[in-house]
Amino acid sequence: MAVQFAAAQCFFLDHGKARSVTLSPDEYPHRRFNPLTGEYVIVSPHRTQRPWQGKQDKPAPDTRPAYDPACYLCPGNTRANGETNPHYQDTFVFTNDFAALLPDAPPRPATSHPLLDAEGIQGTCRVICFSARHDLTLPRMELAALRRVVDLWGEQSTTWARPIPGCRCLRTKGN
Ligand SMILES: [Zn+2]
Repeated sequence: MAVQFAAAQCFFLDHGKARSVTLSPDEYPHRRFNPLTGEYVIVSPHRTQRPWQGKQDKPAPDTRPAYDPACYLCPGNTRANGETNPHYQDTFVFTNDFAALLPDAPPRPATSHPLLDAEGIQGTCRVICFSARHDLTLPRMELAALRRVVDLWGEQSTTWARPIPGCRCLRTKGN
C-alpha cells in the first residue's frame, strides 16, 4: 500500500483502488508547513502507539553530606551572586540570584512582528531552603520542620501574590 498527500486528505492506493479519508492530524502521519522556514516538517503521531516497556533505574544511593562547603544554598556559604547566606537553622528564603522573572522587565520590545509577538512580564522568583541540612529532603523531615516550610510557603505566597498576580509555587532540587 502506498500513501500520497493532497491538501488535507490522504489517498490510500489499495490494490489500485483509491479511497480517501479526512486527515486526523492526531492519528495519521502528515506534513506541516513551518511559515518561519518555508519548509514542511513530517509528523508521525501514530508512532506514540508503539509499545514501550519503560526504563527502570535503581535509586541512586544518597551519600550527600549534611553540609557541603561548595553548595550555594548551605548556611554561611557564598551564593553565586557573591552574597553570603546567614547561618540559618531551619528555613531560609531569598530572591533567586538568577530569577526567571525580573521586576523591572520592559513592557514592550523595541520592535514587533506578527509571527514573534511578545510583551515583557514583570515578576520575581523566591527560593525557599527547606532545611539547613544539605542532605535532608522533604519526605525525610520531621512534622514540625515541614510545618515551618508550609508556613513560610504560605507567607511568601500571600506577600507576593498581591503585587504579582499569577503567583505560582514550584519545587526544584536545584538542578
Ligand atoms: Zn547545601
